[in-house]
Amino acid sequence: MATPPTGPETPGLADDSIEAVAARVSACTRCGLSATRTNAVPGDGSRSPSIMFIGEGPGSNEDQQGLPFVGRAGQLLDSLLRLIPVERSDVYITNIVKCRPPDNRDPYPEETAACRPFLERQIDLLRPRVIATLGRHSLNYFLPGARIGDVHGRPTRWRDIILFPLYHPAAGLRSSTLRQTLEEDVRRLPEAILRSLSLGAGAVTTDTTARAATPVQGAPASDLSTGPEPGEDQDRQRRLF
Ligand code: SF4
Repeated sequence: MATPPTGPETPGLADDSIEAVAARVSACTRCGLSATRTNAVPGDGSRSPSIMFIGEGPGSNEDQQGLPFVGRAGQLLDSLLRLIPVERSDVYITNIVKCRPPDNRDPYPEETAACRPFLERQIDLLRPRVIATLGRHSLNYFLPGARIGDVHGRPTRWRDIILFPLYHPAAGLRSSTLRQTLEEDVRRLPEAILRSLSLGAGAVTTDTTARAATPVQGAPASDLSTGPEPGEDQDRQRRLF
């Protein structure tokens, strides 16, 4: 298979709005997943989210509807959000690859690489305080080699964003123990967001050329020092929770 284009070789993408990125994704043929999808699934949610949830790839229901996390795993994600509580409209939800891998297999590295510019542009545009990865594949996009069993629920810095690894909701459907773990981890998300305000998280670069995942291991949220409160922004976040 020919190596697909990666990184910034997508003319005009760096100037695109979130809607324009979605339009590009819907018409994209950069990898083989375009041949088997019903609908591409660019992402959905707030244009100024505190939390950006990033899963692995669309499943069957998502492929049919063109929306992320609308199946049973999505229903569990909704119930997890209500624990904090936030609504779907308060967050943004997307995936590493925007088209469904056949039979829900893991995306191939070349597919992840081909789709990378879209996710990077979404992160640049949305400037989330926290990126919550859902599952192993999403975690390893940001932290190659990390084990979900070791790092779930432990905030880490990535660029100037708090990275918050979570198990995939589908795992919570298969195991009541993992569902309980998911609930415990999600309840810690508000703390991670409030801590992120003192770190300047959310002010991400708009340079789409620096795209190798370069994680920066950080301390657990409870260990992160607090700095000057950013006033209005922090008030808005507190109202959210
Ligand atoms: S998975 Fe991403 S790169 Fe591949 S066709 Fe879909 S939008 Fe394009």
